[in-house]
Amino acid sequence: MGKKALTVKEEVKTSSEKEYPLQWIKGIGPKRAEALAKAGLASAEDILMHFPRRYIDARTLVAIADLHDHLWRSVAVRGSVVEVKHHQYRRPHRTEITIRDKSGSTLKMVYFAYADYVAKQYERDDDLLVIGYVGFFRGEAQIVHPELVEKLTEGTELSEGRMLPVYPMNEALRSAGINQTQLRKILTHILDSSEFATAAEENLPASLLKEHHLIDRQRAARELHFPSSPELLHQARERMKYEELFFLQLRYGVERLRRVALAHPGIKFDITPLTKALEASTEPESLTERVRASLPFTLTKAQRQVLAEIAGDMAKIKSHIPMHRLLQGDVGSGKTVVAMLAMLVAVENGYQCALMAPTEVLAKQHFTTITTLLKGHPVDVSLLIGGQAKKLRTEILADLRSGRTNIIVGTHALIEDNVQFDKLGLVVADEQHKFGVAQRKALLDKYEKEPPDVLVMSATPIPRTLAMTLYQDLDVSTIDELPSGRKQIKTRTIFPKDQRALFKEVRDVVGRGEQVYIVYPQLEKSASADVKTAVAAYEVFAEKIYPDLRVGLVHGKLPSDEKHEVMRKFRQHELDILVATIVIEVGIDVPNATMMIIANAERFGLAQLHQLRGRVGRGGKQSECVLIPSAKLEPKEDATVSSEDLAAREVALEKLRVMESTTDGFEISKADLAMRGPGDFLGTQQSGSIKLMVADIVADEAILQAAAEDVKTVLSKDPQLRNPEHMQTRQAFLQSTQEDSYLGVA
Ligand code: ADP
Ligand code: MG
Repeated sequence: MGKKALTVKEEVKTSSEKEYPLQWIKGIGPKRAEALAKAGLASAEDILMHFPRRYIDARTLVAIADLHDHLWRSVAVRGSVVEVKHHQYRRPHRTEITIRDKSGSTLKMVYFAYADYVAKQYERDDDLLVIGYVGFFRGEAQIVHPELVEKLTEGTELSEGRMLPVYPMNEALRSAGINQTQLRKILTHILDSSEFATAAEENLPASLLKEHHLIDRQRAARELHFPSSPELLHQARERMKYEELFFLQLRYGVERLRRVALAHPGIKFDITPLTKALEASTEPESLTERVRASLPFTLTKAQRQVLAEIAGDMAKIKSHIPMHRLLQGDVGSGKTVVAMLAMLVAVENGYQCALMAPTEVLAKQHFTTITTLLKGHPVDVSLLIGGQAKKLRTEILADLRSGRTNIIVGTHALIEDNVQFDKLGLVVADEQHKFGVAQRKALLDKYEKEPPDVLVMSATPIPRTLAMTLYQDLDVSTIDELPSGRKQIKTRTIFPKDQRALFKEVRDVVGRGEQVYIVYPQLEKSASADVKTAVAAYEVFAEKIYPDLRVGLVHGKLPSDEKHEVMRKFRQHELDILVATIVIEVGIDVPNATMMIIANAERFGLAQLHQLRGRVGRGGKQSECVLIPSAKLEPKEDATVSSEDLAAREVALEKLRVMESTTDGFEISKADLAMRGPGDFLGTQQSGSIKLMVADIVADEAILQAAAEDVKTVLSKDPQLRNPEHMQTRQAFLQSTQEDSYLGVA
């Protein structure tokens, strides 16, 4: 107890006397250095690598008279202040600053927040550079809360073609009062300081710089912050992109080396039955062949291809380590059947399989699918979920332990401690995000003597080439075609004010004997508020709009058995309309459902929207998807809409436009990746610490691939990066990774 108190005290002491490396740089000082460190910019290198988000080019100034052509877009305008009006008796306080430019027209900057502060900052005749989103109010151009305002004194005159960096801002920087102008000053000082040379030290092998015609790191850093020309800026960006992607690939490459070096040998399955089943020429003999022959459809070429890849891994043809393969394919591409046939390989070899779903409802769905497909075949499939009677559960677990059960379906609880298998051969996990490095490690630790193969299924596919470079740590199989005969799902956006007509269309759909989903988003933070919304909506639908139709409700707060019961009713067409909150719980297969309505649609991610839409169009009937944005996104000319809101609105609506323009999951995930960046897109487990400042995983795919190949070559010649040519790279790599890496071993 006393010891703990002491530690705390010591910490307090150190922090007050802490020295920040940046405080010695001109213009920074201890206070600012501390604030910068809090914002994640602790060293000169951190700041140097905090690249501008974009640049303001003096040549792209827009004349105020022409602003009509730029409605709701971000523009740069230059003009002098003709009036500063401070309304301090209004609530909220409000400041309006009017500027006039050479075109003779005027523009109003409007502030609600910081109104008092802003009013004191500017006066008549100040020459200002203003950047922000343009709106109009009563015919007058205005920018509410500009993104940037800069007073141009003679010294800082914007010259032709000069590019001014605009930095990404975060809360920590903002609350420390560090703005764009100050960041620019800080960068000027760093570029002039003695620290610069070390902070921007070269970290790539000279031969690669030469091969790709890349400029050196110091030059690139200078040009990125204060470009001397658009051409040099381009070169600087190319260099930094390559650097970022090279180190990204290096992480994966090193991780893979480690995996191979430390891996246990996997099970060598005999894959003859599957190989024969895929040929499908002879009279079926084995279980796998007979199951294949009894499928109500023929496998697509893509399904056969990925099965061959999986079989190769299971037979350990190319490598002796357990399979760790990602099976990706669009919604409805038929991944479940593929997984089932792979499981039969293990079953025929006398091993057991576990199929894990992210939720119990989905587990149940998989169980139904698989038992239906395996009807009449001697395969023992069981389901383990919460809420089962104790006696039943004990039996299930006993059968698993004795080896009687061939395939068990459940949630991730299946690989937990109290579940024991007799001989586990293959684990199939649905949805990659929930099955990360940690889970795999736990599995390998638990089955140390004979680790099972692992197949991870993902329904957020990305293009094959991208996947292979992004998931270097995994092998990737892609189902890139849908079974034939699927009809395109029609998608459109309807604003809430126009939804009356939609209510009638729903009636028509139900009149045709088809079913409808109405989904409300569930955001983890405010789950109960979302449930409330859905319950309220359900009541309106059930009592006011469709009192004569059969409307059901399912949401996360319902007890498990009630949830299953509602889903069963919907599946068996005892309900016409299902109001639901949880995305994944709707991950079900009801071919008779042909209309998907998604409320507050912009609050879902693109991948979720695509998944949701994939719930219809599963039978042969024409299906459609209707996206309803929140009422706040309704287009209107409103004086109080700020630049930030407009920007957010654009992003939100862009998502819906993507949904309208394509039903191809690969296209959608590419757009998603481009909008969100890899960190968000892949989730923390897969992305590790991917933080790309300049490179764009989608747009820079070619550089990504070049970097991937270079890393492969480098590591194959010098796996520990010990050659003198690689020393700097090794140093930089070790510095960037906290964990002890394979490079550090030996
Ligand atoms: P995914 O899991 O990839 O979204 P599923 O495995 O759930 O897709 O398959 C979607 C539907 O398509 C299921 O009803 C399944 O039976 C059916 N299906 C699978 N493969 C084929 C095929 N080759 N031809 C026709 N239908 C198929
Ligand atoms: Mg599926």
